[in-house]
Amino acid sequence: MPLPPPLTDHEILAARGPKEPVDPWLPIGAFVEPERQWDGRVLDVATILLANRECPFRCVYCDLWRQTLDEPTPAGAIPRQIDIALERLPPASVVKLYNSGNFFDAAAIPPLDWPAIADRVRIFERVVIENHPLLTDDRVLRFQEQLDTRLEVALGLETVHPEVLRRMNKRMTLDDFARAARILVKHDISVRAFVLLRPPFLSEDEGIEWALKSIDFAFDSGATCVSVISTRPGNGAMDRLQAEGWFAPPKLSSMEQVLAAGIESGRGRVFADTWDIARFSACSGCAAARVERLRQMNLSQTILPPVVCDCGTGDRQA
Ligand code: SF4
Ligand SMILES: [Zn+2]
Repeated sequence: MPLPPPLTDHEILAARGPKEPVDPWLPIGAFVEPERQWDGRVLDVATILLANRECPFRCVYCDLWRQTLDEPTPAGAIPRQIDIALERLPPASVVKLYNSGNFFDAAAIPPLDWPAIADRVRIFERVVIENHPLLTDDRVLRFQEQLDTRLEVALGLETVHPEVLRRMNKRMTLDDFARAARILVKHDISVRAFVLLRPPFLSEDEGIEWALKSIDFAFDSGATCVSVISTRPGNGAMDRLQAEGWFAPPKLSSMEQVLAAGIESGRGRVFADTWDIARFSACSGCAAARVERLRQMNLSQTILPPVVCDCGTGDRQA
């Protein structure tokens, strides 16, 4: 069956539910968790979820708009949020400043605040930010100049399936991604890539196949790690695609297969995003143990024995 035309910005916006109230002077959240580094060390990583102006892109799978502001982020708010988060958090070696959008979107993260941000992340050995490939240019280098901390930029690749990528409404081509990664690598900035497991328009098996192809493309482009994220409904547009038969969430077993194959390829670190991932399991009896196995595989980058359960999952069926 031919694929339907991509949803428009208007259709994606029309499918949305309400936003949540957001205070520009408080972070959305903050937590510390261990993560394996490029050199094999497992370090504590502080993730600070920043409140800021909503991303202007309208990616069909995105639900990050829910906790964002409609107006530009006030100057001084981001450093204040970082201060509040760091006061609450235990010590960590690496910090992720994730803003539900793009760090180099000036209405989201005011460039006037860059020096204060650089000052606050000085205590960390690495700072990870997220950014759209199309906004990856001289701005990144100007921010890097202000840092005493190694910079890593997380880029959303999502999928290398050309027709599906076009329907993600991300307004990005694979060349755009490769160009952005090249700029970063050339300037000694680490690249992390996000890949979606089973985006819409793919069967379960195709979801696995294209996730693995996407991981390969990310490493070909110079990424040092790839985080694989299960595509989920709940943002309105994805629910519409699901109701029309164009989307179904991936199984937990597909993530298990992709993570194992990605690690086995030995090209770089491959992580399964385990946030809320138990919902993708058809069996409540083994879900927690299987998620814990994924966490341990993330940390060790080795393939651990499958969880045995009466449901017969191993890492294949449910
Ligand atoms: S660029 Fe990122 S934050 Fe913006 S809509 Fe797309 S996925 Fe969401
Ligand atoms: Zn089970």
